[in-house]
Amino acid sequence: MEEKKLLSLSPKELTDLGVCPTCLNRKYNGAVFGDDTKLKIFEDKDIECLFVANPRADGHMMISSQKHYHDMSEAPDFLNEKIIRFAKQFMIIIKQVFGCERVYLCTMSDGPMNHYHVQLIPRYNFEERGSKNFVKPRKAYVYDEKKFKKVKKLIEAYAKSR
Ligand SMILES: [Zn+2]
Repeated sequence: MEEKKLLSLSPKELTDLGVCPTCLNRKYNGAVFGDDTKLKIFEDKDIECLFVANPRADGHMMISSQKHYHDMSEAPDFLNEKIIRFAKQFMIIIKQVFGCERVYLCTMSDGPMNHYHVQLIPRYNFEERGSKNFVKPRKAYVYDEKKFKKVKKLIEAYAKSR
C-alpha cells in the first residue's frame, strides 16, 4: 500500500499490517495520533517523553525511543539505561507535581509491530496498592498548564545537568 494511504488507517490496523504507527506518525508530523504539543514534555536525539492521550491516572506518561526498536531486548544498552534514568527522574517529578503516592513502571511491547516504550502510571493515596493499577480504566487527558510547565521545567533541568 502507498504510504500516504496508510494514514487513513487506525493504529491497530497499521500494527496488524506490520506498519509502526509511532514511526509513521513522526514521519508525517502527527498524522496518526494528532497534535501532541500539549502532551510532549521532552525530546532529544534518543528519546521522546509524553503524557499519555488516554491516561489510566492523572500524570500517566510514556517514554519512547526515537529510533525504532520492538522492545528493550533489541535496543542498545546505553538507550535502555537512559530510559531507566529518565523513568526514575519522572517518578520523582510526577510524585512532586501530581501528589501521587507511587509511580508504577511497565513495558509490554507485544503484537506483530510495536515501538519500544515504557509507561509510568501514578497510584494515588485513594487507590488500592497492587497490579490492578496497571489496568485502571483509561480516561480523557486533561491538560493542566501549570503542572505541564512544572514537569517540563524539572525534566529539562535534569537533562541539562547530565
Ligand atoms: Zn516505530
